[in-house]
Amino acid sequence: WIWGAGAAFVTLLLIITSVSIISQWHHRQRTMSMQQTFISTVSHELRTPLTVILGTLNMLHNGIGGALDKDLVRLIAVANDNGKRLKLLIDDILDIEKLESGQLAFKWQSVPLKSLVEEAVDINQPYAESFAISLVLAPQPSTPPGVNDALGETLENSDCVEVDPERFAQVMANLISNACKHSPQGAQVVVGMRRIDNRWLEVSVTDNGNGIPWSFQPRVFERFAQADGSDKRRTGGTGLGLAITKALVEEMGGTIGFHSVPHEGSCFWVRLPKDKKHE
Ligand code: ADP
Repeated sequence: WIWGAGAAFVTLLLIITSVSIISQWHHRQRTMSMQQTFISTVSHELRTPLTVILGTLNMLHNGIGGALDKDLVRLIAVANDNGKRLKLLIDDILDIEKLESGQLAFKWQSVPLKSLVEEAVDINQPYAESFAISLVLAPQPSTPPGVNDALGETLENSDCVEVDPERFAQVMANLISNACKHSPQGAQVVVGMRRIDNRWLEVSVTDNGNGIPWSFQPRVFERFAQADGSDKRRTGGTGLGLAITKALVEEMGGTIGFHSVPHEGSCFWVRLPKDKKHE
């Protein structure tokens, strides 16, 4: 009877495990389908009409309905700015939902990290200038401040990473724009690169700005997290930038980290595996 009881017990255990696996799978399917519905609803019901509104405002601003008086032009500009902020927020929410549900398609390409970073510095130059920041490339190899390890080696043109170049550009734009937004006018933002152990290729963005308060540092990569609620109004951010950046870097097989000292500055670094191929 011991064998019989044992067999019954094992069968019961198997049934319980199967039911739990099926219910977890069912739950996952439901969550995924809810996420899909959410993404398409947000795209069609919010983003599309907003794009039309912005287009119309733009036409009015350009005088398509005839010359407008000064006050009206100012009001249209305010509506336009706020509409753009709303669109930015919607795009960020869509990006993060797509990333989480695996619906963001990556166009993988093997590219020298050096050229990607140099391009990002060029592209973001006008943005930095709008904050009176000088955006510069550090001499290589550059060890990020606060990172206590070997110096690393200079990147060669043959040092490639497999990334989606557009998504990598988004990562760089996020880090550079944060550094500019949180630095005083006239400051410098430095972009550095290095190779570590012939395995990792790293890019870092260093500023001498406000730094991140110690108490906020554990929450930096959380969704909608901002050190100071008024940041949103002052800098126009959504608090989603770093959450998206982290998810993008991890999707590309990399890691992201930072070192920040309040009132001294911050350094964010991204490490990507050298020559790793994605299926
Ligand atoms: P936001 O849209 O507000 O820029 P992020 O997710 O990019 O959102 O950043 C979250 C918060 O982290 C910012 O609001 C800011 O408080 C802080 N932060 C990020 N980067 C920096 C930086 N380089 N210097 C100081 N604070 C920063």
